[in-house]
Amino acid sequence: MINPDLVGLLEQIAPDGVRTGVDMAEVSAWRIGGPAAVFVEPDTAEQVAGVLRLMSRRPEPLLVIGETTNLFFDSRGFHGVLLRIGPKLSRVSIDGRRVRAQAGARVPELVRALAEAGLGGIAHAGGVPGTIGGLVLMNGGSQRKGIGTHVASVLVADPAGDLQRIDSAGLGFSYRRSRLQGDGSVILDAELELEHGEPDELIAEIDEIIASRAAKFPLDLPNGGSVFLSDPAMYEIVGPPGQAIETAGLKGLTEGGAQISPKHANFIVNLGAATDDDVLRLVATARNRVRATTGFTMDCEVRHVGTDGRLRPAHEVADERWPSLDLTER
Ligand SMILES: Cc1cc2nc3c(=O)[nH]c(=O)nc-3n(C[C@H](O)[C@H](O)[C@H](O)COP(=O)(O)OP(=O)(O)OC[C@H]3O[C@@H](n4cnc5c(N)ncnc54)[C@H](O)[C@@H]3O)c2cc1C
Repeated sequence: MINPDLVGLLEQIAPDGVRTGVDMAEVSAWRIGGPAAVFVEPDTAEQVAGVLRLMSRRPEPLLVIGETTNLFFDSRGFHGVLLRIGPKLSRVSIDGRRVRAQAGARVPELVRALAEAGLGGIAHAGGVPGTIGGLVLMNGGSQRKGIGTHVASVLVADPAGDLQRIDSAGLGFSYRRSRLQGDGSVILDAELELEHGEPDELIAEIDEIIASRAAKFPLDLPNGGSVFLSDPAMYEIVGPPGQAIETAGLKGLTEGGAQISPKHANFIVNLGAATDDDVLRLVATARNRVRATTGFTMDCEVRHVGTDGRLRPAHEVADERWPSLDLTER
């Protein structure tokens, strides 16, 4: 449980940015979770560094979040401090082909605004929800491209609260990976190096990508994006996870408030009041049925935040809670 003195100390660092008991079922992208003990939204990089410096000496768990589009929270709550890098840290400046975007800038708006300014090369990310900080950490993107190709440097606050700028060579980008994953640093801004283009053409490219995603994905209900990772060996023989789950007969399977989307089987949508257990039971069923029917074991891309702040791929938590669950045997 949170020691009451912690809230006061955080308020000294970020006077307008500390809230308690924030319900993650209301504010997270997938609308799943319980109360977060403390929710801090700093206004400045210095405040972020101050929070890290304080928390490095504290026993309570700390988790940095952007827009939570790649996460879902335990419905029992989160017994620690969530450090949100969002709208309060979202300024963008342009200098020729170089763009400096604070980590909380939303990616779809950023990509479009840069296209309008005649800067392109990152249209593939134009339909990816979330912040530029989250995107850089995950080296995210679409069409098998990653934002890392266009990242010149990032400013981070390390776990001790020291600020440092790291250039692209130090970021170790590879497919959906960067060296910053798991090292506890907070990304404060990303410096992008883009390509000049015609605004009309760049915007048309983004619109086409967004339209094709809207046709495929169930974007009308809260969801966590692709639930399972695509495995090249499985892809060759069985196809992508969505196809494998559909072939296993699980499209539309509903558990509590969660459903394997009838539109795209690699998405789990929240029909209204889904809990983390509802999602995890569907994850366990899809994993176990696909393994039984194809011999391939699918791992999750989406991650679960435990009450203690542990961030784990959802299948690990599902396996722990129900090792061989198959809801179709009910
Ligand atoms: C409908 C939908 C479609 C999606 N499509 C795609 C896609 O096509 N391609 C793709 O790559 N992803 C996709 N995703 C996943 C997700 O959008 C991306 O991973 C996104 O970049 C995450 O950003 P976020 O701000 O929401 O991060 P969060 O979900 O809040 O966090 C994700 C991870 O980043 C860390 N993090 C966040 N901000 C920071 C920061 N400033 N500093 C350090 N660590 C940080 C968190 O601790 C966590 O580990 C999709 C998700 C949804 C819901």
